[in-house]
Amino acid sequence: MDSPWHLPGEWLKGALHVHTTNSDGRLTPQEVIDTYAACGYDFVVFSDHGKVTQPSSVDGKGLVAIGGAEIGAGKSVLGSNYHLLAVGLDDLAEGEIDTTTAQRAVDGLRAKGALVFVAHPYWSLLDEVDLRAVECDGVEVFNAGCEYETQHGDSGQHWDWVTATGKRPLGVAVDDSHWGFWDGAGGWVMVRSEERSAGAILAALKAGSFYSSTGPTIEELDVAADRLYLRCSEVAGIRMLRPGPGMGWTNHWTCERPPCPTVVTEAEIAPPGDGAAFRMEIIDGAGRKAWTNLMSIDSAEAQPTVIVR
Ligand SMILES: [Zn+2]
Ligand SMILES: [Zn+2]
Repeated sequence: MDSPWHLPGEWLKGALHVHTTNSDGRLTPQEVIDTYAACGYDFVVFSDHGKVTQPSSVDGKGLVAIGGAEIGAGKSVLGSNYHLLAVGLDDLAEGEIDTTTAQRAVDGLRAKGALVFVAHPYWSLLDEVDLRAVECDGVEVFNAGCEYETQHGDSGQHWDWVTATGKRPLGVAVDDSHWGFWDGAGGWVMVRSEERSAGAILAALKAGSFYSSTGPTIEELDVAADRLYLRCSEVAGIRMLRPGPGMGWTNHWTCERPPCPTVVTEAEIAPPGDGAAFRMEIIDGAGRKAWTNLMSIDSAEAQPTVIVR
């Protein structure tokens, strides 16, 4: 496909992992919608523990509500269970999903049409063996609630462990909001969606046509066989990262000494010519990041295409 920045449609801001009073959240489903709408979000996925909060139970007020759930399953090397985030679920009967292993639960949820992510791997103290043992759609790379509560919200390393094996799990930023809203609006996805509907948003998520952020904005990503151009909000660094030991590139870390600028808003680089996977990441002065999914360039075609998944 083309770069998500060049696909038809619009950018929609979404929260993929949100709890309500239907499980252990403090806000009712309607309060969740009202609060995210006030923060400028376009869609919210309800992800209560073990049950689907129905989108039809709320007044969306212009925001798209999507069904989902969070399921505990299996056992890690250290003995904790996996939490799995299912995005795009119409219903879920009690005991319907076999949770004896993480993979069985993933398979059961995917059979119901959901995208399944390993939730907060660092918070769960999953290790690389646990991550590699599960075939699913992606990983929560950043979980705001886990970060604010225990500083165990950044699972970038877990993502790298899987991508280093050649797989391309999607990497998302989420809130996992529970407590009123102090753990809300800390991690989100920006989805390039053909229209403002649950179906179009889920299709774009499945295709990897989105990026994730905890603050900054990627405004343009133009990918060609010999040139990659990224334009963004003001940040301190722009990086291309590749899943291998020591592989990557940072434009330059901004500093106070001339001629080094204190902020950067664009970078142009030569992408890997070997068809290998890479991702782009930007980081601002406060350490907030935005990142793309893994992609590679199929330059064998006359018009190079971007392969995300
Ligand atoms: Zn959880
Ligand atoms: Zn949760």
